[in-house]
Amino acid sequence: SPLHGDAPEEWAPTGIDVTVPSIARVYDAVLGGKDNFPVDRAIAQQSQDIVPEIGDVARYNRDILGRAVRTMAKAGITQFLDLGSGLPTVQNTHQVAQEVNPDAKIVYVDIDPIVLAHGRAILAENANTTVVTADLRDPKAVLDLPAVREFIDFDQPIGLMLVGVIHHLGDDEGPEAIVRDYLAALPAGSYFLLTHFCASSPDALDLEGALLTSLGTGRFRTLEEITAYFEGTELLEPGVVYLPEWRPDEPVPASLTVGQRLMAGGLAIKH
Ligand code: SAM
Repeated sequence: SPLHGDAPEEWAPTGIDVTVPSIARVYDAVLGGKDNFPVDRAIAQQSQDIVPEIGDVARYNRDILGRAVRTMAKAGITQFLDLGSGLPTVQNTHQVAQEVNPDAKIVYVDIDPIVLAHGRAILAENANTTVVTADLRDPKAVLDLPAVREFIDFDQPIGLMLVGVIHHLGDDEGPEAIVRDYLAALPAGSYFLLTHFCASSPDALDLEGALLTSLGTGRFRTLEEITAYFEGTELLEPGVVYLPEWRPDEPVPASLTVGQRLMAGGLAIKH
């Protein structure tokens, strides 16, 4: 099963507690990566027990990231701020964007220091890419980070990405205001990509309950709530939809499975 990596314990950077699950490592386990520990794999397995297609869901999320980054790069976006970027995997933002425009700049921001530890390999080979450890819940601090100011020109359109991360903010943390603060900082012509767990089935709500208990985060919001994050922007076609329905490369079946409806997202432009 892809959920059983053989984590060589020696890669763990000092200061990382391998007995506490990490969102980044659980997601890596779900994607079939090897940068995870037993405590992370247990949650990935528990998620798979509730939604057997969970690995596909993570891939739908990576796929829309790829399609949307390509769309933004082709539309002329040359700088990307990827918040809650996760561990490097296949088709990372910089690879997709730089395929269209080799000069595209990418700032990856993640709260988990393991992402920086693994991102160093990317840094070494890519002068237009940087990785920063920061908490996106403080937009002002993130937007003022030296690396952000150095890489991103706030007078030019930006591709802002909150992919699979806002559902890790609780209602009491004011996710709407946080998203609004980032959108307010973007110049006109910027793009905004968001994907989010969706409260779309009883199984989705079961998974929400399990994740809130085991991982401490994972809020499944309704399509209406997810759409509300785009307030003040123009949602591009087809709007906020279940991930496989967003500008699919392949025909989509009329009736989607629980897994295909587990996340929703959209791409918008700020005028
Ligand atoms: N964006 C990638 C994707 O969609 O493939 C990774 C998504 S992963 C499910 C969520 C990531 O958000 C994790 O790497 C986690 O460490 C990060 N994260 C969670 N809360 C965060 C916060 N407050 N600030 C920054 N990153 C955060």
